[in-house]
Amino acid sequence: MPYGFSFDLSEISKSFFRELARVSHERKLHKKFGVRARYLAEKFRLQEITGLDVPNALQLVEDLIDVHMRNVSERENFVKTKKRALFLPHCARKYMDSRCQAQFNPELPSYKCAHCSPDCIVNQATTLGESKGYDVYILPGGSCVPEILKKNRYEGVVGVSCSQELKLGGEYLKYMGLAGQAVPLLKNGCAKTTFSLGNLKKIL
Ligand code: SF4
Ligand code: SF4
Repeated sequence: MPYGFSFDLSEISKSFFRELARVSHERKLHKKFGVRARYLAEKFRLQEITGLDVPNALQLVEDLIDVHMRNVSERENFVKTKKRALFLPHCARKYMDSRCQAQFNPELPSYKCAHCSPDCIVNQATTLGESKGYDVYILPGGSCVPEILKKNRYEGVVGVSCSQELKLGGEYLKYMGLAGQAVPLLKNGCAKTTFSLGNLKKIL
């Protein structure tokens, strides 16, 4: 389910994400969740830089905090896993048309990158994931996740997508009893999206 608004955090200072992590670790956060999100949005001029209105900026920050907190609570279980999958979003491919040479396998269902463009972030993330032993899937949508997980016995899953999709995916992994880690998109919009390869590397 995509957001009803577009965001681009690629110009936001890196300290925003450090602060996000700090805020996520604070005790009693649940009591002050909205206050903390507003503090972060104001401190890092989220509305001014992204053009988001207040409710959407707060929703985005709250979702990012939620994803971070889930990563922290799942980390211990995740590092113990051996057989892992990496799910990448099709929207981050360099091309969304026939110039993308990725092969779609309807049985899985997912794309497999054909490495046609060295500067494609999905290509780079695929190579990174495979070098660390992950099975890598490029997903056309979140509904592919249950199908893939039913057909393959994974212990750990890393997902890259917009934070709203990550929240839904996190619930599903919990239901399946699988350990998960997540990397939120820095820019959504369902095409020409992007994420931090550095963050993905740390998570993997
Ligand atoms: S590098 Fe892979 S994902 Fe990127 S455009 Fe080419 S085939 Fe598609
Ligand atoms: S931004 Fe990408 S991950 Fe999020 S809903 Fe759109 S296509 Fe899916």
